[in-house]
Amino acid sequence: MGQGGKDIWTIFKSLSWAETYLKRFKIPNSKIDAEYLLSHILKCKRQELYLNPDRQLTDKEINTFKGFVQKRSKREPIQYIIGEEEFRGLVFKVTRDVLIPRPETELLLEEAVSVVKDKESRGKGHGSWTIVDLCTGSGCIAVSIAKEIEGCRVYATDISEKALAIAKENAKRHRVEDKIIFFQGSFLEPLKKLGLKGKIDIILSNPPYVSKKDMGKLQPEIKEYEPSLALYGGENGLDSYRTIIPDALTYLKKDGYLILEIGYGQAEGVKKLFAQHPAYGKIEIIKDLSGIERVAKARHELFKHKQP
Ligand code: GLN
Repeated sequence: MGQGGKDIWTIFKSLSWAETYLKRFKIPNSKIDAEYLLSHILKCKRQELYLNPDRQLTDKEINTFKGFVQKRSKREPIQYIIGEEEFRGLVFKVTRDVLIPRPETELLLEEAVSVVKDKESRGKGHGSWTIVDLCTGSGCIAVSIAKEIEGCRVYATDISEKALAIAKENAKRHRVEDKIIFFQGSFLEPLKKLGLKGKIDIILSNPPYVSKKDMGKLQPEIKEYEPSLALYGGENGLDSYRTIIPDALTYLKKDGYLILEIGYGQAEGVKKLFAQHPAYGKIEIIKDLSGIERVAKARHELFKHKQP
C-alpha cells in the first residue's frame, strides 16, 4: 500500500487482502467467506465478482467490507454479519436472537408438504390445514409452510420475544403475515386457551436439542454467537421432546402428524419417548442428505384396543 496517496481497492485486491487476513486468524474457507461478504455488499453473485476484478470499491464499500471481514475473523457467522440466510428458496432476516436456518431443516418442510399432498391425493384434502410450528425462531419453517401450502393457517410459538419480532418481520417480508399467528410461550403452552385441542393437522418443530456434553463441543461460530436458548436441550438433549411428544397428542387431530427435527444419535431416545404413548402409530425416522437421522415423524392414530 502506498503511503500518503489514496489506496485503490479493486475487487481483486480487496478479495486477496481479505483472504490473507482471514487466513491469519485460521478461518476455514477464507476465500469463499471473503467472496460471500463482498458479493453481499456489491449485490451480486459470488461468481460475478470475477467478471469485473478491476472494478474499484467506493470508500463506503471498502469500509463496510473491512468491518465485515474483521467480524468474520472473530468467528461471527457470515449470516449474522450480513443479516440474512436463505431457506427453501426464500431469504430470511437473521440476528443473534435467532438460530441460523440450516439446510437439513428443510426436511421438515418436505415431510409436511408430503403429508398434505398425500392426503389431498386420497381425497382427504380439505383445503384448510391447521399447522403449528413450535420454537419458530426466525420463522423460517412457519413462513415457508404458509407460502407452500395453500389454504393453511399457521400458529407459531417461541419462548423468546426477540425471536418472535424477527419471525414477524420475516412473515411480512414474504407477505404471509395474514396466514400466521405468533404467540410467545414455551412449546405448546400458548395454544392452551385457543380452543385448538384435537384440531391440528400437523405440528412441526426444530426444538433445542443439543446435549450438555455436545454444547461444549460446538464450533465457535455456534457456541459464541447463536442463542443457547435455541440450542440447549438439557442433560441428554431430549428435554424438548419429553414435553412436546405427550403434549402434542392433546392438539393433534386423529390422523394428524407430529414432525420433529432431531439431533445426531437421538433417534433411539426419541423413539422410546414416542413408544410411551400408544396413541402414536409407527415412528418414521428420515435421514438427511449426509445420511444422518434427522427427522422423526409420527401419526396420531385411533387408539387400537388389543384383541383378546
Ligand atoms: N442443528 C443445530 C446444530 O447442530 C442445532 C439446532 C437445534 O438445537 N435445534 O447446532
